[in-house]
Amino acid sequence: MIILSGKAVCSGINFGKVSLYTRDSFTVKRRHVEDIEAETMRYNKAKTEAIDELELLYYKATKEIGEAEAQIFSIHRMMLEDIDYNESVMNIITKQRLNAETAVLMTADSFSKMFSDMDDTYMQARASDVRDVSDRIIGILSGEERHEFTADGDNIIIFADDLAPSETLQMDKEKITAFVTEKGSATSHTAILARSLSIPAIIGIKSIVKEEYDGKFAAVDGYTGRVYIEPTEEIMKELSAKKNEKDEQRELLKELKDKPTVTVDGKKIKLYANIGTTADLGNVILNDAEGIGLFRSEFLYLESEDFPTEDMQFEAYKKIAEGMGEKPVIIRTLDIGADKKIDYFKLPEEENPALGMRAIRICLTRRDIFKTQLRAILRASAFGNIMIMLPMIVSLKEIQDAKAIINEAKAELDEAKIPYAKDLQVGIMIETPAAAIISDILAEESDFFSIGTNDLTQYLLAMDRQNEDVAEMMDTHHEAILRTIKMVIENAHKKGIWAGICGELGSDSELIPKFLKMGIDELSVTCGKVLEVRKIVRESYSKN
Ligand code: PEP
Ligand code: MG
Repeated sequence: MIILSGKAVCSGINFGKVSLYTRDSFTVKRRHVEDIEAETMRYNKAKTEAIDELELLYYKATKEIGEAEAQIFSIHRMMLEDIDYNESVMNIITKQRLNAETAVLMTADSFSKMFSDMDDTYMQARASDVRDVSDRIIGILSGEERHEFTADGDNIIIFADDLAPSETLQMDKEKITAFVTEKGSATSHTAILARSLSIPAIIGIKSIVKEEYDGKFAAVDGYTGRVYIEPTEEIMKELSAKKNEKDEQRELLKELKDKPTVTVDGKKIKLYANIGTTADLGNVILNDAEGIGLFRSEFLYLESEDFPTEDMQFEAYKKIAEGMGEKPVIIRTLDIGADKKIDYFKLPEEENPALGMRAIRICLTRRDIFKTQLRAILRASAFGNIMIMLPMIVSLKEIQDAKAIINEAKAELDEAKIPYAKDLQVGIMIETPAAAIISDILAEESDFFSIGTNDLTQYLLAMDRQNEDVAEMMDTHHEAILRTIKMVIENAHKKGIWAGICGELGSDSELIPKFLKMGIDELSVTCGKVLEVRKIVRESYSKN
């Protein structure tokens, strides 16, 4: 078995036979020309023909892979009509008196280099477009036909140096099961086409187009970026199991993406995702979550060597807010302590960390740290629909104190004329028995409740969530938990605010129908569970 590693640009796992794709290379002969006018006419004629071809390809692509992907052929057409491109070709023909093929080739070289040197990855990917479109004209000028790619059998894994859009378009897509290329980028056509076909694609593996790989059986893992040539039985077993699980997920995706999360009797449920870092954003969007119900902001601190600055945090929050557009993003303020210890905080050693200095307790005693985070969140709120959520609350005073610091941060931003969302909502987590019991009182100062069933369970049952010895005994369906959740929802509704669940129980298939009957308004779950939860909600009732 040979294992090759690259960058996955389209997820999925597939198995098949390797087929090497070698691109056309035209041998362009450099010639001096006497009749410049005739050469100019040759170029213009070839260009018109190329534009006609591109129009045809555009229609073909629209039908086969969709309007968005077909746009690339309009871009190619625009490239051909580009003034600078044409000026360069003309200059070479008229000033250097070279033949049209050479003029196009030289122009393609300099333009593709210019694109490759750009910082923007999207623009870098356009280098192969210039080559592709230039090859088209050279082909027409020299009367050489581009060869059609053919491969025997089904389940073909293409190994290529790079793939141009017109090359991918003429492939028999029914037969192709994965793409692996040496070059390319996440916005390259290999990636775009792979996504439209929902097959795995891996880029950036050096020297992939090797005779010795041709025809061999291989497995492509578009999650890890690995390609296994002649995989062992063990790897096959492992990948097959992963594939089955992911395929089920995909089926759900096909069935439920863009569908509303609404019960049979018509109650709309907010279905949000829990995330830990900005890297999870893609998964949130892929799984069609309607918002972020819990951004565990402490990961920004856990990943950092020292306190993350206001600007560092601002960038992260802004990225998520912008990525989610108008959809809500609930940022939970720093929740460290207990199981999440960070050296640079220099927290004291405690007998019972789960009952000690954690979350809001730290924030209210080390206000400078808290203020820095709040300023970053407030600044980011100008770029999306951000809400703040306070963890580990046990009293009304804690909410009031936290809000006082939020108001201080707002006043500072006002003073500095820095924009933020004036109507930003502040909600709390209900994850302590105390908060649940006085939730009617806490609702007075909260815009929403999110029930943290992970901690609520440990505190209600007096069983440490970190202690393996009690894990077996931990009955997460305990009547005490269910009654508490019901009470919290009722108290929220009495005061006119919404209540959700962001702990693990929110995706418990057995309990979701019960929560819905209790009146739950929101469920925030790990990205991979979003669609499963949507399915359950759509099959359940909100009333008896
Ligand atoms: C919870 O306690 O349920 C929760 C969502 O927070 P965490 O798991 O991060 O403590
Ligand atoms: Mg918690």
